[in-house]
Amino acid sequence: MHSLRHALEQTHNNGVAIGHFNIADSVLLKAVFASAQELSVPVLVGVSEGEREFIGVRQIAALVRSLREEFDFPIFLNADHTRSLPKARAAAEAGFDAIVFDLSALPFEENVRQTKEAVEVLKTIKPSILVEGEIGDIGTGSEIHEEAPDLLTGLTTPAEAKQYVESTGIDILAPAVGNMHGMLKSMVRGQTRKHLDIPRIAQIKSAARVPLTLHGGSGTDDDDLRKAISAGINIVHINTELRVAWRRGLEEGLAKQPQKVVPYRILPFAVESVKQAVRPRLRLFNGDR
Ligand SMILES: [Zn+2]
Repeated sequence: MHSLRHALEQTHNNGVAIGHFNIADSVLLKAVFASAQELSVPVLVGVSEGEREFIGVRQIAALVRSLREEFDFPIFLNADHTRSLPKARAAAEAGFDAIVFDLSALPFEENVRQTKEAVEVLKTIKPSILVEGEIGDIGTGSEIHEEAPDLLTGLTTPAEAKQYVESTGIDILAPAVGNMHGMLKSMVRGQTRKHLDIPRIAQIKSAARVPLTLHGGSGTDDDDLRKAISAGINIVHINTELRVAWRRGLEEGLAKQPQKVVPYRILPFAVESVKQAVRPRLRLFNGDR
């Protein structure tokens, strides 16, 4: 049987990472699943609170489960950036494989107290669920931003990471290592790229000793991503790059068929456009296969 924990161990042993792609509709889900199938690599589908509200918590759980079962394929579902216990409970009850319980906006001690409580509650609902906790500042909103936020003050320290993991019992840690959510306009144009603090990742890994997730991977320099995976990153999140591709593909489908109203003639353009965004990222995360 496929489990996310098993997939994480395998990727760790092979020195590669699992790609995590956010979806909000069946166009994105189709594109992510087809790309992972083509490359024969495990994949994580993520839904933030907003994305979940749009597609439905139980509905996305049923869709991902049906793909996993019908195709006997390691596709997993993550409740991305869940900021309250009731919403985390709803995802666990629906059968999600993982939950990012994100109280990184709270003071450290409060984040620890509430995350520890959430880990206990969620594991009671579903013992195999993996809970990810977050410390530090990686900005908000997987969108196009006008200005770069100042992230230097919110970087995670190895000591904090160790203390946080040990006192909460989380399975996975999301550190702040120069990454940020969303992309700048210059990144969408391909003129600038994000860079990561690689030595910090390695230090956090040896202090925390759990799988690490890199959030806000869109627009990150390819070589930095490779080095980050070698230094201990096990899951890489990509959202904004897919959103940009989704919109471009949709616009292309509409522009090429101005008279058409049939969704399944227009939407394949969006699927193809998103696949072109997913494929190179999945290849890179899986050792340039
Ligand atoms: Zn994130």
